[in-house]
Amino acid sequence: MKVQRVVLASRPGKNGAPVPENFHVEDMTLSSELKEGEVLVRTLYLSVDPYMRCRMNEDTGAEYLRPWPLGDSADGGGVGLVQSSRCSSVSEGDVVTSFNWPWQTQLSCRETLQNWTLASGWTSLVLLGAVGMPGLTSLFGVREKGHVTKGQTMVVSGAAGACGSIAGQIGRLDGCSTVVGICGSEEKCKALVEKLGFSAAVNYREENVSERLKQCCPNGVDVYFDNVGGDISDTVMSQMNKNGHVILCGQISQYNKDVPYPPPLSERTQEILTKNNLKRERFLVLSYMDKADAGILELSRLVKDGQVKVLETVVNGIENMGAAFCSMMRGGNIGKQIIKISD
Ligand code: NDP
Repeated sequence: MKVQRVVLASRPGKNGAPVPENFHVEDMTLSSELKEGEVLVRTLYLSVDPYMRCRMNEDTGAEYLRPWPLGDSADGGGVGLVQSSRCSSVSEGDVVTSFNWPWQTQLSCRETLQNWTLASGWTSLVLLGAVGMPGLTSLFGVREKGHVTKGQTMVVSGAAGACGSIAGQIGRLDGCSTVVGICGSEEKCKALVEKLGFSAAVNYREENVSERLKQCCPNGVDVYFDNVGGDISDTVMSQMNKNGHVILCGQISQYNKDVPYPPPLSERTQEILTKNNLKRERFLVLSYMDKADAGILELSRLVKDGQVKVLETVVNGIENMGAAFCSMMRGGNIGKQIIKISD
């Protein structure tokens, strides 16, 4: 049986933006005969995520991330439908999801796919965003590192993306009275305020972030959910109250540069952290996987009840994986960027 897959064709280099041509779509043949313990799965949705930029490098810079080998299938979060099964734990018709889904239209695999049950009426793409890894990142990031107390002010950068859009909503539910998002377009700002209930939003491409933050956060900033790093984060940290908390979730503004993670802070920002006793601890969702089941349950309840609203940007076709990844890295997505592979 002929299937299509996406391989990494070339590396952008540690200093350089990825381009769609770094990826290549090719045909491959898959045996339709399953061995004992194997499952044939048709891919429904695939995810593209910022950490994949590290996987495009020969050396990812993180011990928990393997580089994608040149000429081999890329992989990441995916959801698919079991077409046939010779494995006792999954049956035909089950929807399964995994963090390590090869970028292929169909695959046969052993029991490595994680089988999460879907509540009825749900679209399975939610499993890649709000009720998946990005949702857990937001929930655990806020809960483990945010130390939110009632009436506080939270700022979120990368606020209209997969993690940021959920993190701000969790902050509000956990008691923040002011939640301000920073993002890269008017359309995104509008979505944050009108659809997700953020108190205000700042367009960092068009507005003076420092001045707008002073207006939107008259009592200063207590909690900062940092997805982007760089100048935006320096500005937010300069407006934080004593004993505040920075959730160091990601630093996407630095991912196309050859710098260590997390990138070193400027002397001035370091002084601000020390002077104001700001806690800025690195956060990694993978460190909290023992709580993943409970987290997924809580997120599914919040989404189902409408307490957390979900934004997604969906493109069609495995041939668009590379373009969708590059677009997401440049801000082309509102909410979670997802690629629909089949119906
Ligand atoms: P998003 O859906 O937020 O997509 C990435 C967004 O980053 C873009 O939409 C763009 O939005 C923004 N962006 C890109 N370049 C810049 C820049 N130079 N300055 C400011 N913003 C920029 O991705 P995710 O929600 O999946 O990831 C968000 C962050 O969370 C990333 O840093 C990622 O590495 C991190 N992460 C960390 C995890 C952890 O365990 N610590 C787990 C998962 C994600 P805009 O239009 O606003 O510029």
